[in-house]
Amino acid sequence: MNDKLNVDPQEIAKFEALASRWWDRDGDFRPLHEINPLRANYIDEHSPVSGRRLVDVGCGGGILAEAMAQRGATVTGIDMGEAPLSVARLHQSESGVDVDYRQCTVEELAQREAGAFDIVCCLEMLEHVPDPGSVIAACAQLARPGGSLYFSTINRNPKAFVFAIVGAEHILRLLPAGTHDYAKFIKPSELAAWIRDAGLTLEGMTGLTYNPLTRIYRLQPRDVSVNYMVRAVKPV
Ligand code: SAH
Repeated sequence: MNDKLNVDPQEIAKFEALASRWWDRDGDFRPLHEINPLRANYIDEHSPVSGRRLVDVGCGGGILAEAMAQRGATVTGIDMGEAPLSVARLHQSESGVDVDYRQCTVEELAQREAGAFDIVCCLEMLEHVPDPGSVIAACAQLARPGGSLYFSTINRNPKAFVFAIVGAEHILRLLPAGTHDYAKFIKPSELAAWIRDAGLTLEGMTGLTYNPLTRIYRLQPRDVSVNYMVRAVKPV
């Protein structure tokens, strides 16, 4: 892989290896399946997606991309993993939804399709790339003026280490060990700075919490200590 690309080949390899299990709701990607209705509703409430052009950056097997297409968006999904995209393409034929999946980086797509999207989503991907600021800047280029952007990632602090790595990967085994690297977690202040640097306006932020006893995920606007999601707009 070209070193100039903003891609970490080891990160891509992790997802290539797990790809066949992407749509197993009780498997390695169970957390993504469980949070999907929450995040899909959050996006659709703030930026009704029906009839809109939406790009899902780092779409993997297409869990969010399909949900957005089902709600009436015209969806493009990009990822650098080949196996996740094959799984996504196969799955959409079963679901009967239509997503345009492409293997490219967000920086490449931004050069070809600047301003083409009403809504840009980049969920659970920033913590897997060498330069998250570059991804955010490219997402900003993809959005049309007035368009909305959604980013989600994991905060970096001792609680996030305990919940997202020790708890999720080693105790509860919600995710395969090694899925996340603590050093690549992102504080909300860091994400906010990249958003500002990309010329975007931060509009809101919500936490996404997991209760290990009830096994329920919830959006918690006041608790961004572990998983969280932000929305931004591109000024007109
Ligand atoms: N966004 C999806 C999948 C998250 S898993 C969801 O939330 O449901 C992270 C995905 O990011 C994987 O599919 C991985 O292949 C992809 N990825 C990692 N680095 C990338 C990069 N530099 N460019 C594009 N995709 C990348």
